[in-house]
Amino acid sequence: VVYDVIVVGAGPAGAVLAYLLACCGIKVLILEKANLPRYKTCGGGLTYKAIRLLPFDVHDCVELEAAGGIVGFAGRELFRAAVEQPFAWLVMRDRFDHFLVQQAVKAGAHIMDGVRISGIEQDDMQVVVRAGSDTFIGKLLAGADGVNSVVAMLTGLLRNRAVGTALEAELEVSAEALSAQGMYATFDFGALQGGYAWIFPKRDHLSVGMFAAYPGKVVGLRADLERFISRHVGMKGYHQLSLRGHRIPLGGRQSIVHTGRVFLLGDAANLADPWLGEGIYYAVLSASIAAEEILRFFKGGLDELSHYTHRINVEINRQLEQAYRFARWVYRFPRIGSALLRHSRVMQQVVFGTIRGDYSFQQLNQLLLRQLPSILVQSLKGRTAL
Ligand SMILES: Cc1cc2nc3c(=O)[nH]c(=O)nc-3n(C[C@H](O)[C@H](O)[C@H](O)COP(=O)(O)OP(=O)(O)OC[C@H]3O[C@@H](n4cnc5c(N)ncnc54)[C@H](O)[C@@H]3O)c2cc1C
Repeated sequence: VVYDVIVVGAGPAGAVLAYLLACCGIKVLILEKANLPRYKTCGGGLTYKAIRLLPFDVHDCVELEAAGGIVGFAGRELFRAAVEQPFAWLVMRDRFDHFLVQQAVKAGAHIMDGVRISGIEQDDMQVVVRAGSDTFIGKLLAGADGVNSVVAMLTGLLRNRAVGTALEAELEVSAEALSAQGMYATFDFGALQGGYAWIFPKRDHLSVGMFAAYPGKVVGLRADLERFISRHVGMKGYHQLSLRGHRIPLGGRQSIVHTGRVFLLGDAANLADPWLGEGIYYAVLSASIAAEEILRFFKGGLDELSHYTHRINVEINRQLEQAYRFARWVYRFPRIGSALLRHSRVMQQVVFGTIRGDYSFQQLNQLLLRQLPSILVQSLKGRTAL
């Protein structure tokens, strides 16, 4: 069998791409190394911009709908901002990702799980993918196999990717601690240097984690996380369901994400926001761009995938570069940034609006600069020491 497109990886990037292509009658095979449903280390925060972009309703696999954000500093709650419009949903990634794959299969995609790819060869006509002694043939190959992408490694793409480090614990806590957290997602920019800590509520437990938003060796993240948890008296006596670390792309660099008939998307293409580590939205966005470009490819309008790389850089990496600028400022001056955010309604509206997807990161930076006088006035009026 020769498939039109072989997709490696059944995360959000791979599943959504397979769905979009199958809907257009393209013959797709997904190869996934894990047995599905598989656990994925993730906070499971699905922002409104991601929900809006997904090609189908995912309401059925949502744990909670966030009512807004709590901003904390070193374990202390500074304020709670209720967001009137839909802001984010919280999901468990095993359920959510499996649901996405099921939609792809319903649309006509084929899936083989428990298949770990180990070799790629391509010529002018096709790509041959090896997984142990099995061989699969496709006209195109999509690497949606995450930040440690084997497809990227085997084809020499993105050799020097910038990545940060995250650590996530799933904690069973008392009913009081769950209700104290409520439907709010906590962001704490004073819990570690160069990154932030989160608390995302799930139906029956909390996801608590840290993102060290800088490349290179990270020291003491586990101790930072333990200290952060210990500062929340409500979490006392918690039961730890899991504790896992993983890398998160620090997106924003102009890169080449294709070679011949092979291209990368999602984390494999290093597309996550270097401020909060959000990656699901960019996985779905790159899948949508890839689907459009693949359709053009099969209609004969394009004989290579350089237009795909170009669009990824213009439509995603340029925004992520702006996110990086914002992140650099926030992580250099976390105390000042948190204080301004605490007291300025204008800044809250712009920052939460950006997470929600009302503004791009470019607009965020422009708006903050333009609104700086009113942000400072609001902050001075409400000033208290952090
Ligand atoms: C601790 C943590 C918390 C996070 N929290 C959030 C959050 O709250 N919100 C958010 O938007 N993002 C978050 N992210 C980022 C988010 O998880 C990723 O950006 C997202 O999963 C990227 O999707 P993807 O489909 O590109 O890759 P993945 O979800 O990583 O999927 C890749 C798939 O490829 C498979 N695979 C890998 N190698 C092979 C191989 N050789 N052969 C076959 N299959 C293979 C894997 O098993 C996996 O199923 C978080 C990340 C971490 C580490």
